[in-house]
Amino acid sequence: MTCYAFIGLGNMGGGMAAVLAAAGHEVRASDLSADALARAVAAGATSSASALDAVSGAEVVITMLPAGTHVHEVYQQAVLAGAARNALVIDCSTIDVDTARLVAGQATAAGLRPADAPVSGGVTAAAAGGLTFMVGCAEDDFADVEAVLRPMAKTVVRAGDAGAGQAAKICNNMLLGISMIGACEALSLAEGLGLDPERFVEIASASSGQCWSLTSYCPWPGPVAAAPSNRGYEGGFAGAMMLKDLKLAQGAAASVGASTPLGAQAEALYALFDRLGYGEKDFSGLIQVLRGRLDLLA
Ligand code: NAD
Repeated sequence: MTCYAFIGLGNMGGGMAAVLAAAGHEVRASDLSADALARAVAAGATSSASALDAVSGAEVVITMLPAGTHVHEVYQQAVLAGAARNALVIDCSTIDVDTARLVAGQATAAGLRPADAPVSGGVTAAAAGGLTFMVGCAEDDFADVEAVLRPMAKTVVRAGDAGAGQAAKICNNMLLGISMIGACEALSLAEGLGLDPERFVEIASASSGQCWSLTSYCPWPGPVAAAPSNRGYEGGFAGAMMLKDLKLAQGAAASVGASTPLGAQAEALYALFDRLGYGEKDFSGLIQVLRGRLDLLA
C-alpha cells in the first residue's frame, strides 16, 4: 500500500483518486470544493483539512488542477514546504511547459522527485484506470513514477526530462485539433460534391487520407459506433478543453519561435466553436458548424 496525497478532485482527479483507493492505497484528498472532496471520501479517500495537511508524510503527491496558476500556487503553499524529502511529486494537470519546468526545478531544489505527467483520455478513462500518461522526469525516477501511476494507467511513457510530458501532450493535441478540422472539411466537401459521406470515410480510411480523427473518431454520425457524433456530440472531449490545449500550444510556439500556422487556425476555429456556445460539446461537433447545421448541435 502506498500513501498518496491527491490535490484536485474534479472531473478527472475524482475518478483517478477513486481508482487508487479501490486498488487498496491510502489516498489523502484535498480540494477547495467541499462537494468534490465529499465525492472522493465516498469513493474511499480520506479528507484532509488542507493541501499542506494532505502532503505531509505522503510518499506520492498527485495534483490534477485546472491550469498552471493553480499548480504553481499549490506547489508554493503546500508541496514544496510540506512534502517529505524524496517524495514523488507528480503533476497530472495539462499546463504550460514553462510552469511545469519552474515547479520541477523548485521541487528538485527542495529534495523532492518531480514529474509532469499529463494524460490522454477523458473522464471515462480516468474512472476506469485507462489513462495514457506522458511523463517528463529524471531518467532515474521513471521506474518509480511508472509504478505509482500504474493503477490509473493503460500506458505510461517517458517523453524526456522535466516539461517533456507537457510538451508531448500539447504537440499531440495540436495535431489532433488540426487533423479533426481536416476530417470535418473533407467530409463537408465530399457531401457538397454528392459523395456518400459514409462511403468516403471507407475510401479515405483505406487511402492516404487515413487518420485517427476520421477512422476511429469520425465526426460524421454512422461509421464509428462509439464516436460522440452518434450521440449528439455529448461526452467525449469538450471543444473548450481542445481550445485550452491549442492556446497552450500557441503560447509554447511563441516562446520558442516555432512556426505553427495551422495550429493558430485551429485555435481560432475552436474559439469560434466555444463562442457559439458549444464549448461543452465534443470537439468533433465542429463539422456541423462548417456545414451550417447548428441545429444538429442543439
Ligand atoms: P475540474 O475543473 O473538473 O477539476 C479541477 C479541481 O481542482 C476542482 O475540483 C477544483 O475545485 C480543484 N482546485 C482548483 N484549485 C485548487 C487548489 N488551489 N487546491 C485544491 N483544489 C483546487 O477539471 P478536470 O476536468 O478534472 O481537469 C483537470 C486537469 O486535467 C486540467 O488541467 C485538464 O486540462 C486536464 N485534462 C482534462 C480532461 C477532461 O476530459 N476533463 C482530459 C485530459 C486532461
